[in-house]
Amino acid sequence: MIAKKWNFIVMLTAVFALAGCASTSTTGGASSTPASSPATSASAPSTAKPAGGASVLDEIKSRGKLVVGVKYDTKLFGLKNPTGGEVEGFDVDIAKALAKEILGDEKKIELKEVTSKTRIPMLDNKEIDMIVATMTITDERKKQVEFSDVYFKAGQSLLVKKGSPIKSVADIKKGTKVLAVKGATSVGNIKAKAPEATVLEFDNYQDAFSALKAGQGDTLTTDNAILYGMVAQDPNFAVVGDPFTDEPYGIAMKKGETALQAVVNENLKKLQTNGEYDKLYKKWIGEAPSK
Ligand code: GLU
Repeated sequence: MIAKKWNFIVMLTAVFALAGCASTSTTGGASSTPASSPATSASAPSTAKPAGGASVLDEIKSRGKLVVGVKYDTKLFGLKNPTGGEVEGFDVDIAKALAKEILGDEKKIELKEVTSKTRIPMLDNKEIDMIVATMTITDERKKQVEFSDVYFKAGQSLLVKKGSPIKSVADIKKGTKVLAVKGATSVGNIKAKAPEATVLEFDNYQDAFSALKAGQGDTLTTDNAILYGMVAQDPNFAVVGDPFTDEPYGIAMKKGETALQAVVNENLKKLQTNGEYDKLYKKWIGEAPSK
């Protein structure tokens, strides 16, 4: 139920994401401690381990389970099904595919709910091994976490009720109420692009969308990929204007966990070459990107 235009946009962006993997890779351990396979990576050099403890990769292997922070509020990427209770989406399936590659079974996974605001603190507290949750790679965040290579490319856009006078970010004026989510890049981006806007911040995307539906704001802003998920939930809303930022998604791991970062990157590449990435992309987003 996703508009053709969306398929076209995401096809293009995914091609960029795939093509851009090498150039956008984070500096540090991924390139200095390459792992030729998940099995050999267990013996990654000790420099990859934080001082005074086992690496997270070692912990994952000894516990036999990957603990992943995913969204529960974001249709297409990570949404908790209100009926059956399963958490479903592209990010969830990427996480399961990583569990299968690292531990041999996609069921060897525990999903924990993160929001944009809680994800880095939960990683820091070691409540989760990694974040797969529509998370943009930014220089600021690179100071706090290790990122994988880019696995999806989105761009920030606007969601409005159909017929709204807001057709693009240029229509946001003094007094326009813009809804966003705490901890998201979208908040700072919209304040920079439309400094006169009144930005109202919510804890999660379903709350922000409910507020838009209830008329508490004029527009909701976040990544186009997330907004198209909302359109799929309620076609009375539409995404307007061109994306006005680049939001390359990466998987985040605790700072210093370069052995895990190398294994994640290696397996992301594997999923792209063996066709699994395209399958998941087609399942959740639309047509698979051409190689
Ligand atoms: N990709 C943006 C971010 O990482 C917005 C989506 C989100 O809130 O997760 O902040």
